[in-house]
Amino acid sequence: MLTIDGSIGEGGGQVLRSSLALAIITGTPVRLVNIRAGRPKPGLQRQHLTSVEAAATISGATVRGAAIGSRELTFQPGAVQPGEYHFAVGTAGSASLVLQTVLPPLLIANAASRLTVEGGTHNSHAPPFDFFERSFLPLINRMGAHVEARLDRHGFYPRGGGRLHVNITPATELAPLHLEEGGAARRIRSTAVVAGLPRHIAERELKLVRTALDLNPDALTIRELPPDQGPGNVLLIEIENEHVTEIITSFGSRGVRAESVGHSAILEAKNYLTANVPIGEHLADQLLLPLALARSGSFVTLPLSRHGTTNIEVIEMFLPVRFEVDEIGLKQCRVKCGS
Ligand code: ATP
Repeated sequence: MLTIDGSIGEGGGQVLRSSLALAIITGTPVRLVNIRAGRPKPGLQRQHLTSVEAAATISGATVRGAAIGSRELTFQPGAVQPGEYHFAVGTAGSASLVLQTVLPPLLIANAASRLTVEGGTHNSHAPPFDFFERSFLPLINRMGAHVEARLDRHGFYPRGGGRLHVNITPATELAPLHLEEGGAARRIRSTAVVAGLPRHIAERELKLVRTALDLNPDALTIRELPPDQGPGNVLLIEIENEHVTEIITSFGSRGVRAESVGHSAILEAKNYLTANVPIGEHLADQLLLPLALARSGSFVTLPLSRHGTTNIEVIEMFLPVRFEVDEIGLKQCRVKCGS
């Protein structure tokens, strides 16, 4: 049994999610210790527990230690069983982080799957649905799988209640992905979403984005959702370049001014735009596992986050691949995966 220390790197939930996905893919029984030791509330929280349960369901795994607050878990997977599944986080915990756990094994399974996941669909510190659908999935589909996602209802923190559907047509083998060029933006759009909150919040956010990024009014959209999907507010800046669509998000919350929400998205967008790289910070850490499954690939990105380096450490424990991360400029690095 492979023992994984959950305190490595940044000691967060990514070690758990990547370990579960890779345990299923490689058929390796794992023992996870010090789960999320680096977080203020360590151990399995609701979203992580749902990820464990989802991973166990799709692989018929035998699990010990799956409880809220648990810092130790053993997970003995069986063969992956593609099919129709419904997972519910039960809180506003991120539905897309549950997907992050089960998608990799289902992407290379021998039959199609249909998933419904309920929980938060627009959470800070997790891929918002729009990012999952329009930034991440097109790249996965370019690797040979065919995955479609549909959002039924938005779910914001703290209420949750979101629901999304994902149809997965797997690829027996994922093809390598190379994304080293084409960092120049071709089109920028911005959308402010408000659910059960005044429209002026969205207007103020978009006004700032419009000025800061010099956008035309037709590049701006306000979406007002029914109040039962809120309260919630998310600002999206969608940057299309030659091969990738990068989506930067910033969330409103009680006591935070709309202007602060706008400024933080603008700052991140400018950081990405001036670096002139195709792959932004979050896509970078999320592409590592798919690249490793393809056993080959490369991309140019911003300096790799601690999240990314931790993920590399975990992946290399399971798969016979090696990542090379080279700084190629002040704000650029090249990530290469080979076997
Ligand atoms: P925790 O221990 O709190 O669960 P964690 O290790 O799960 O933390 P986070 O750093 O919160 O991790 O990130 C979780 C995942 O969400 C990562 O894959 C990261 O790329 C992704 N993510 C975070 N913020 C965004 C964002 N704004 N857009 C897209 N993806 C994001």
